[in-house]
Amino acid sequence: MTDNTCNMPDENGYFGEYGGQIIPPHLVDIMNEINDAYDTVSQTDAFQDELNKLYATYVGRPSPIYFAERLTEKIGGARIFLKREDLNHTGAHKINHCLGEALLAKYMGKTKVLAETGAGQHGVALATACALVGIECEIHMGEVDIQKEHPNVTKMKILGCKLVSVSRGTKTLKDAVDSAFEEYLKDPVNSIYAIGSVVGPHPFPKIVRDFQSIVGREAREQFLAAEGKLPDTLIACVGGGSNAMGLFSEFLNDESVKMIGIEPAGKGLETSEHAATLTLGSKGSLHGFECYNLQDTEGNTLPVYSIASGLDYPGVGPQHCHLKDIKRATYASIDDAECLDAFMQLSRLEGIIPALESAHAVAHAMKIAKDMSAEETILVNLSGRGDKDADFVAEHLSL
Ligand SMILES: *Cc1c(COP(=O)(O)O)cnc(C)c1O
Repeated sequence: MTDNTCNMPDENGYFGEYGGQIIPPHLVDIMNEINDAYDTVSQTDAFQDELNKLYATYVGRPSPIYFAERLTEKIGGARIFLKREDLNHTGAHKINHCLGEALLAKYMGKTKVLAETGAGQHGVALATACALVGIECEIHMGEVDIQKEHPNVTKMKILGCKLVSVSRGTKTLKDAVDSAFEEYLKDPVNSIYAIGSVVGPHPFPKIVRDFQSIVGREAREQFLAAEGKLPDTLIACVGGGSNAMGLFSEFLNDESVKMIGIEPAGKGLETSEHAATLTLGSKGSLHGFECYNLQDTEGNTLPVYSIASGLDYPGVGPQHCHLKDIKRATYASIDDAECLDAFMQLSRLEGIIPALESAHAVAHAMKIAKDMSAEETILVNLSGRGDKDADFVAEHLSL
């Protein structure tokens, strides 16, 4: 493996054939300004010191690596370890990049941060970060989602962000993206857009990956210290791909370490209700960048579904597309039933209730561990905790 996977993207924002800026020319200038500011600001000691201090004292980093001994015993085979991003303040990995984005806004002299949210996870993490940094936050959310996601909507209001209800189109995530982006373009000088994953036009996939790479840096050091060697296999769930990219990024040059990203197979890959973009998609463009897409023969984006709302995105981060093509990472899928089984097993064997998103990664670890030897190890990125999913699961399984 050469170093080229680490020095990405190139100056045009491409990871191999994917990424870039598929946007009108006047937007390219705006994106390039963000890129230049990011490259400068994020390298300063002041910025890095402030971010690292907040990671330690506010988020609670480093998050531990935990050996899931009872789960391992039950499955047999490889030992399964968890990187506990569920223990972060706000309960998931998203706070890692939201804090970075809010601080970046402050250092760039912006007065307002704008974003969209689907199920509300990104909205809550961003509203939290903006409250902490002391910067105005405006979140656009579809009317349908606002009705569905009550606890997150309430949290955003308490945290003081301005919540804009989007009533156009299907009144869901896609319309919220359009609405938030339009608002941003009214004043790109004083405001900044804060994206929710390693997606969107360059430089967003790079910025979010860099902020999430704290997960991989910690994991690599912690695992070496505890086990005296690197893990054999990394597993993470993939929606847009930020928690997976954060973990993978620091192991790209470790040829012995396998990396597996897990997409939602939903109700089955043979149905139309899944979001297995890398498994079944084809190259296209979406939300300002090139990536694998779930699209029809005319290039229209298909509706997607997952039991885990954080995973139902019809595109995927450009670096994952590249890692798949060069075979540095592989991508598999887990369906709703397998996800629910892993959710319950982890809860009852380890006392850890995972997010339904993260349960996809746990399910795949359970699937492959039994065919591996007891000397081998699997490190799962446990991206978030399952409090938000507890009522739904209990009702679904009639507990
Ligand atoms: C949002 C979310 C995801 C999916 O996002 P990625 O960008 O693919 O990491 C995964 N897990 C949890 C807990 C989430 O909230």
